[in-house]
Amino acid sequence: MVDQPVCACDLMLFGASGDLAQRKLFPALYQLDRAGLLASDSRVLAIARRDTDTAALRKALLARLEEQIPEPEFDATVAQGFVSRVEYLELDFTDTDGFLVLNDWRHPGNQLIVYMATPPSMYGVIARNLRAGGCCTERTRVVVEKPIGHDLESSKVINDELAEVYRESQLFRIDHYLGKETVQNLIALRFANNLFASQWDQNHISHVEITVAESMGIEGRWGYFDQAGQIRDMIQNHLLQLLCLIAMDPPSDLSADSIRDEKVKVLKALKRITPDMMAEYVVRGQYTSGTSEGKPVPGYLDEEGANKASETETFVALKAEIDNWRWSGVPFYIRTGKRLPEKMSQIIIHFKPAPHYIFDPDQKHLANNKLIIRLQPDEGMALKILTKDQGLDKGMRLRQGPLELTFSETFDTDRIPDAYERLLWEIMRGNQYLFVRRDEVEHAWRWVDQIIRNWHDSGEPPKRYAAGTWGPVASIAMITRDGRSWYEDV
Ligand code: NDP
Repeated sequence: MVDQPVCACDLMLFGASGDLAQRKLFPALYQLDRAGLLASDSRVLAIARRDTDTAALRKALLARLEEQIPEPEFDATVAQGFVSRVEYLELDFTDTDGFLVLNDWRHPGNQLIVYMATPPSMYGVIARNLRAGGCCTERTRVVVEKPIGHDLESSKVINDELAEVYRESQLFRIDHYLGKETVQNLIALRFANNLFASQWDQNHISHVEITVAESMGIEGRWGYFDQAGQIRDMIQNHLLQLLCLIAMDPPSDLSADSIRDEKVKVLKALKRITPDMMAEYVVRGQYTSGTSEGKPVPGYLDEEGANKASETETFVALKAEIDNWRWSGVPFYIRTGKRLPEKMSQIIIHFKPAPHYIFDPDQKHLANNKLIIRLQPDEGMALKILTKDQGLDKGMRLRQGPLELTFSETFDTDRIPDAYERLLWEIMRGNQYLFVRRDEVEHAWRWVDQIIRNWHDSGEPPKRYAAGTWGPVASIAMITRDGRSWYEDV
């Protein structure tokens, strides 16, 4: 079915001057307009503190879109049309009276979307002020960004504040990984292909690897990042969401709650990592100086604005286990870090070898199939299978080769939409399946909080790794102890 514009939407964008709005949300909205997916009456109210007006905002926005959007995708007429949908309101979010004007801006027939691209501490304030200003209808959809809190307790406070004003069915909690095409493809891969569906358990899979690597360091965000660290910034949300999509049972349909119910079951089944398990299950690292893309780079503690005594982790590797019938005995090795050798995200499903091996003994290490799911760069999949090596002199020597599916080459698509395009589109359609439900957030925090508590109680500092390497050697030791290796190390 070809997508059609949904009903006209009034989008109130709180935090319109911020990095997320400028870098991601406005370009995504432009792309939706270019694709003909914004109804002609759809409008955007950009709300922020700074002293500007609609004319100046439109001019700046047009110039920025021209700079951000690659040439073949930039259409001056569409861009002009898009910016004319945008108006500006200067408002401090704590100014309750200032919210009274919002109700006048709204077209009662339009779907109201409130997007809070603001610090999470503002979510409750904005929600209450919208209610006080009479701008809180049953039909409102409310979008909030991660992080929802910095631990279970603080996430409950934010969720309670939102729940005071809105029902769960009105809330769209973003984890932008769920907007990536390849991540949604995990659902198609698993549940549309019986070939995999029937092999997806502890009988056939030996272990799973999930790597989300960044080559960047902190890029001027030291203070923000240091409050969070890699476990809160990446594992609690993006990596646990990936793990859920890989590990969940088949949902009975594609409805938001069917999918989210299954994800919650996985989060509930995650084995708690207790203090005595830490040495074997978790590695925490912090980068020192090294090289990145051929250039010398400073260590985390020497970055601009750094507190030299910080023990915040920039790398985490861990072994997650899921205590249920499907995954008993199948470790999920997860790692994510900054200043690693490359920017790359991939999931590798390692299948068990055939029950009886009959080929040359020195090739036995090749004997398991692997499914490699590349989330970035070069989105696609490869199934590593074993074939006979070609040639008279090769006998029955084996060779491992890929059945390769690179999306950009195989499918006739001119571009892969950015995650925020998909997410904004689903919000307009009122479909919550790519958004995180309250209980998912809270179960994820419960599991991660235990690890953070263990770190604090042990007082052990993070292990150092040189920028441009794959993290502390302890992360290699962690997987080697189980007789395995990280995929690219093979
Ligand atoms: P920024 O700090 O860049 O922007 C915050 C915005 O909120 C600014 O427009 C700021 O206005 C506004 N603001 C804050 N307090 C008030 C107030 N009292 N009254 C009016 N305006 C206020 O943050 P980001 O854009 O980076 O992030 C926004 C949210 O998205 C955060 O929750 C973040 O965690 C999340 N996020 C961001 C990502 C990113 O790539 N940037 C990625 C994933 C999540 P002013 O300019 O006047 O200060």
